[in-house]
Amino acid sequence: MPGYRPEPDRDSRAWWERVAGREFAVQECDACGTLRFPPRAFCAACRTEGWHWRELEPEGKVESWIVNRRAFVPGLHDPYLVVMVRLEAVPGALMYGNWRAERPPEAGEPVRGVFSQVDESLIVLDWIPESRISHQLSENHPAD
Ligand SMILES: [Zn+2]
Repeated sequence: MPGYRPEPDRDSRAWWERVAGREFAVQECDACGTLRFPPRAFCAACRTEGWHWRELEPEGKVESWIVNRRAFVPGLHDPYLVVMVRLEAVPGALMYGNWRAERPPEAGEPVRGVFSQVDESLIVLDWIPESRISHQLSENHPAD
């Protein structure tokens, strides 16, 4: 069971709405094309406010991880693992998510994000080892 629950704010709400539609996207600056995550009001590179969504493959590498030995959410099995992933397409961006594998991650390990329905109102992006992709694709995209 996933342990991480997002708390969307003004800047991240639109991003979570896209995740709810099972779409993985980051912001792209209208002026200089810089990709950014987490969502911000303007570009850190050129200060331009205009931006649009750029849909990406949810791919990255494990930067670090946290083992939660105490479940803060009732009903969770502990310990559970939250990984910090450096996005392949946005090297400056780190993303957190639940780790979904029977073993711990390895530093630098290629991973892929998969959408996970937590409950009626929440979909999150979990991360799995790249080596499990073929299995997960059939599990998550039965219509493909
Ligand atoms: Zn820019």
